[in-house]
Amino acid sequence: MTGNRPSLGARATDELGKARALVRSMRNSLPSGQAAQSLPSGRAAQSLPSGHQSLPSGRAAKALWLVPTLVLVACGRGNPSAAGSGADGPPASQGEGEGEDRSEGEGEGEDRGEGEGEGDDVEPRCPDASYVEDLSAADADVDALERSYAPSAWDSTALALLQARYPVGRYIIDETRSGGFDCLEDFTSAEDRADFSALARSLSTSVHECGHGLDFERGGFDRALYVLRADLVFDLPVLDTFPLREIHQYTNDDDFYADTYLAGAIGDQFFDSLMEEFTQYVNSLMVAAAMNDQYDRDGGVSERDGILTFMLYLEVYLQHARVHDGATYERILSNAEWREFLLTVWGRAELALSRTAGMEFLGINDDDIESRMRSPDLTGEIDRVRERHGCADLLSP
Ligand SMILES: [Zn+2]
Repeated sequence: MTGNRPSLGARATDELGKARALVRSMRNSLPSGQAAQSLPSGRAAQSLPSGHQSLPSGRAAKALWLVPTLVLVACGRGNPSAAGSGADGPPASQGEGEGEDRSEGEGEGEDRGEGEGEGDDVEPRCPDASYVEDLSAADADVDALERSYAPSAWDSTALALLQARYPVGRYIIDETRSGGFDCLEDFTSAEDRADFSALARSLSTSVHECGHGLDFERGGFDRALYVLRADLVFDLPVLDTFPLREIHQYTNDDDFYADTYLAGAIGDQFFDSLMEEFTQYVNSLMVAAAMNDQYDRDGGVSERDGILTFMLYLEVYLQHARVHDGATYERILSNAEWREFLLTVWGRAELALSRTAGMEFLGINDDDIESRMRSPDLTGEIDRVRERHGCADLLSP
């Protein structure tokens, strides 16, 4: 689908615009002095382009686009993780999530299938191949919610809808709000609230933005913390890596995400921010998949484009590191927790993609992005992570 291209850029820019508006509103609502307390002095300012190299890590640089919006939330970060995979946890941090069913049959497509029947492989299965998430609620009947919808009850309806179709999204919103950041209010427009379907379609963005909020609320500046689900949290050390702008050179002209995420202020952020964005684009598509019956079959939205773009960026970042910055590459690949996390997010992304395979109305340039992302030259980068992780059951063809 190509009829709606500008919306890609608009979507990405929109995120920034909303975030900046949020910064202003939150700063205005802060008791005086609170912002200064919650942000180490000057860190947000240091994260401006000229100063990023002086920062100890990429985490602080996140202040520029994510964190300043979340100053209030930051105040609550003394309680890092409910699930706590733990900084020193073994690679198998997926833990209790393993037992759930991969409930949707269509999720087994593509190159995910080959390992499925061989449950007793000698080699451990890779975290991406073994990723499971209970998606059994995705087909829940929400007709009653739709029939009784009133815009004045948009908030409770949004929560009920997520609870019915994708409880992980509900969890993320609830947790973020309980930290003091009303991400649902801030990322839902009057237009979104006007009718049930528009509200349902807006939830992918709401969960995405709330997900940023929750990760920062729990991880703050000093940790790279990612909440994938209530029972699956990665709390990782921040690694010394190179800025995202270094991979801008590999993007295509029709990449509407590049100028937002790989240039400007965000371009000065680091690998952990790339993974933060990737994590949230997975959430976006998981929610869109659960709400897919609310989308216009003839329209094109960028739900699949976002996740595919960040899968591509991860590959490209690893490749650039391997070829041009071996020290950074080793810092990433030698860390078992980080490998586990990368592969887990990758597996969750594949699950979201497989659930939306054939839903052309959820993509715009998604076919082109996916074909590049799946080129052997780039998928080889994920294979190298798997090999280093000691699992080799799902090597890309
Ligand atoms: Zn985002």
